[in-house]
Amino acid sequence: MTFSLEQAGRQAWQWLEAASAFSETRDIPREGVTRRCATREHRELLEALTEWMESLGMAVRRDNAANLIGRHASATPGARTLLIGSHQDTVPNGGKYDGMMGVILPLALVKYLRENAISLPFHIDVVAFSDEEGTRFSSTLLGSKVLAGTFDPEMLEATDGQGVTLESALEAFGCDPARIPEDRYRPEEVIAFLEAHIEQGPQLEQASLPVGVVSAITGIERHQITIHGMAGHAGTVPMALRRDALVGAAEVIRHLNALCKETEDLVGVVGKIENAPNGVNVIPQTTTLSIELRSPRDAVRRRAREQLLEQIGASLEALNLTFDQVQTYEQSAVQCSPWLTATLEEAVQDSGIDPRVLFSGAGHDGLAMAELCDIGMLFVRCRGGVSHHPSEAIEPEDLTAAVEVLAHACQRLARGQSPA
Ligand SMILES: [Zn+2]
Repeated sequence: MTFSLEQAGRQAWQWLEAASAFSETRDIPREGVTRRCATREHRELLEALTEWMESLGMAVRRDNAANLIGRHASATPGARTLLIGSHQDTVPNGGKYDGMMGVILPLALVKYLRENAISLPFHIDVVAFSDEEGTRFSSTLLGSKVLAGTFDPEMLEATDGQGVTLESALEAFGCDPARIPEDRYRPEEVIAFLEAHIEQGPQLEQASLPVGVVSAITGIERHQITIHGMAGHAGTVPMALRRDALVGAAEVIRHLNALCKETEDLVGVVGKIENAPNGVNVIPQTTTLSIELRSPRDAVRRRAREQLLEQIGASLEALNLTFDQVQTYEQSAVQCSPWLTATLEEAVQDSGIDPRVLFSGAGHDGLAMAELCDIGMLFVRCRGGVSHHPSEAIEPEDLTAAVEVLAHACQRLARGQSPA
C-alpha cells in the first residue's frame, strides 16, 4: 500500500488546519493566527508537532531557544544532515501559512518517503524555528541564529510588551538559555538548508504556477530624512517666498517612486511620515520621513541610494530647504546557493512544472542559516499575494506540488548532486 503525493498534500493541509488552532485568537477565526515565541500557543503547537513527528518515527528534541527539531534518520553510516524548515511564529493576526507551511511540508515529505520506503543517504532534520518574525521580543531570526551559531547573548535581555525578558520567557518554556551555544550545528555535518514558504507576492499566481524557486533574499536599507523649512501663515506668505517642508517631502516621494520604477530589481517605499506643526493653516516647518530600499543585488541598491540622495539634495536645495539624513538599517542580500537553486529548478521540472526563478522581497530564516550552510528556497503560490493577514490563503493542490518538488530535490541530492 503506497502513500501518494496527493495523500501527502492532503495530510499537509490537515496538519496546517490543526496547527492554526494554536493561536491567541483561537476563538475568533476571522482574526487569523497569532502565535508568539515561548507562549502557551507555542507550547501547544510543539506538543502537536512532536506527536506528528513521533508518529513518523522521527527523533524529536527541543533546543534551548525553543526550536523544535525532528530527525528522519538515514541508515547510511556517517550520514550528513539536510535541514528543512521554517518558523512557527506569526505576526499579530497573521495567516495559517506564513512560516507554518514550511514546517508542515517537510513532515508530509517524510511521511511520503517513509510510506513508500524511499531511503536517503542523509538525515532530514525538520525544524520549527521558535521566532522569526520577532513579534514578541523584536528579535528577528532568533531560532535560526541559534542553529547557525550567530546568536548574540545580549538579545536575551530583550523584553516583551509586559517587561518579560527573552531569557526568563525561555526559562519558563523549559529552556536553559545559558546552553544556547551548544545548540548550533557544525557546518561539516550539514548539507544545506531548504525552506518552503508562501511567496507573499503575486508573481506565481499571475504566471499560473504552483511553485517557484528563489534566487536570493533581498537586501534592505532604511533611512530617516528630516526636511527643515520655515513655518508661516498659510494665507499671508507669498508662494514664491515659502520654504514648505512638506513640498520637499513630496519631491522625495516622487524621486524614490520614479527611481524604483525605472530600475530593475529595486523596490522602495516612503512608509512613514511626520509633519510639524501639522496645522491646516500653517506652512509645514519640519517633515520627517522614512525611506526604504530593497534589492536582491546589493550593488543595485547602493547605486540607487547614491542617485536618490543626489536627486533629493538638488530638489530640496531648489526649494530653499535643508535636510538631515541618517541611515537606520542595512541588511545585505543573501544569495541562495546556485547549485541548490539549479537542483530545485530541476526538481520543479521533474514535477512537470515550468521552473520560474524569482527573488524574495521579504526576509526569511535563510538570512541567518546562510552563515552556517548553503541555502535554497521554494516559494508556493499564495492567493492574491496576500500575507501577514488573516485572509492569507493557498490552493490545497499546491501543497501536493510542493511535496513532489521536495521529494525530487531529495532524490537529486541523494544521487550526489552537490556544489559544482
Ligand atoms: Zn515567514
